Amino acid sequence: MARPVIAIVGRPNVGKSTIFNRVIGDRLAIVEDKPGVTRDRIYGIGEWNGRSFSIIDTGGIEIDGEDHILRLVRAQAELAIEEADVIIFMVDAKAGLTHADDEVAQMLFRSHKPVVVAVNKVDNMNRMDDVYEFYGLGFGQPIAISGSHGTGIGDLLDAAVEKLPELDDEEYDEDIIKVALIGRPNVGKSSLVNALLGEDRVIVSDVAGTTRDAIDTPFERDGQRYVLIDTAGMRKRGKVYETTEKYSVMRSLKAIERADVVLVLINGEEGIIEQDKHIAGYAHEAGKASIFVVNKWDVVEKDDKTMQRFEQTIRDHFLFMSYAPVVFLSALTKSRLHKLLPVVNHVSEQHSLRIQTHLLNDVVSDAVAINPPPTDKGKRLRINYVTQVATKPPTMVIFVNDPEIMHFSYERYLENKIRAAFDFEGTPIRLFTRRKS
Ligand code: GDP
Ligand code: GDP
Repeated sequence: MARPVIAIVGRPNVGKSTIFNRVIGDRLAIVEDKPGVTRDRIYGIGEWNGRSFSIIDTGGIEIDGEDHILRLVRAQAELAIEEADVIIFMVDAKAGLTHADDEVAQMLFRSHKPVVVAVNKVDNMNRMDDVYEFYGLGFGQPIAISGSHGTGIGDLLDAAVEKLPELDDEEYDEDIIKVALIGRPNVGKSSLVNALLGEDRVIVSDVAGTTRDAIDTPFERDGQRYVLIDTAGMRKRGKVYETTEKYSVMRSLKAIERADVVLVLINGEEGIIEQDKHIAGYAHEAGKASIFVVNKWDVVEKDDKTMQRFEQTIRDHFLFMSYAPVVFLSALTKSRLHKLLPVVNHVSEQHSLRIQTHLLNDVVSDAVAINPPPTDKGKRLRINYVTQVATKPPTMVIFVNDPEIMHFSYERYLENKIRAAFDFEGTPIRLFTRRKS
């Protein structure tokens, strides 16, 4: 189930990133690695009135080389129109209505997307006069907020969430494996899609007139049905913002949300870069099954240790994803390609694996007997029982006498024991500790 998207647009300095940070709070965000920049979070997950949504700070999307404000703001608005379900159009009460605001308003108006106008920097709610001029933008009642004081943000989210589309039902049958291919530009995503589909299948290169271009490609192999998520998004390039690196990150995140299995493509020729880590980390956080696919293996000079060394490098870089298998292949020559789908099937199975409570408890009791839980302030952790409460990803609740004294390291120990007993290759496992004596 893909989360709906809310985008914040507006001129620089109106307070977009301030509000963005308040909305996502401590939750997961995609950060940029450039040192010294204040604006480092562009895409995060928010929740309000029980609805979960993705939120984009378009101000964080640098449009390469663009420093002309009007062009920049236009490109950001264009991005929001394309990607978002609801747009928060932010203006600045102190600065008043500007020419750039009018420009953006016209673009948004023509798009027919739902828009909520947020008038920021209304630090004194008695000074509502500053707000009224923004009625003229034509999007109904503007909402007065203050990023500095945190006021009005609830009202803003009420208005935005109310305009989100209805939840649609699960798009595909349970037995179809949804696969997302992610990785930086040129790593070989499109080539791998074509290789998987076979020569005679051509993927859609562009679909005119669609604003939501998440085109999925279904195929079947050896009786198993798959769908490749958002293959059109991979092909769609050219617009200014789509050539930017961060845009492709965002695109990947949306694909990950909808997938069961994420293929994290790595360029065998060039190795691992920081961005690979962010995207893979997101797949982990989102609870998806993952496989590292080292592509372009045909051009790598190899001896009998090369693969082992490369795998070790991956392990060193992705410490949290030691569960993810590594597949080496060449999308171009198709060498070793046949190894991929069996691994996809396997991790997908593990992702939806459900372990019976008594089997799980046998393993945990044995683990506790070998290595008893720690004591804390003289109190010993007692584990009463463990039960699996969900799949995709496998999620287990550990009932204990006092959750406060459960240590991260002990949780890791139990996770390792559970993995040793039941496999769970390719999938993250979630463990929660709850009180029950
Ligand atoms: P962005 O460029 O639109 O993302 O704007 P920022 O969030 O970076 O904010 C720009 C400046 O406005 C920063 O110095 C903020 O501290 C300030 N700012 C943000 N919200 C408010 C507010 O509600 N009131 C006032 N007075 N300043 C604010
Ligand atoms: P994308 O941007 O991730 O979709 O990457 P493409 O599939 O467009 O591939 C980028 C370039 O890498 C193209 O020139 C491909 O021919 C080349 N390429 C893709 N896979 C391989 C491979 O396995 N080996 C080699 N040598 N080149 C590849």
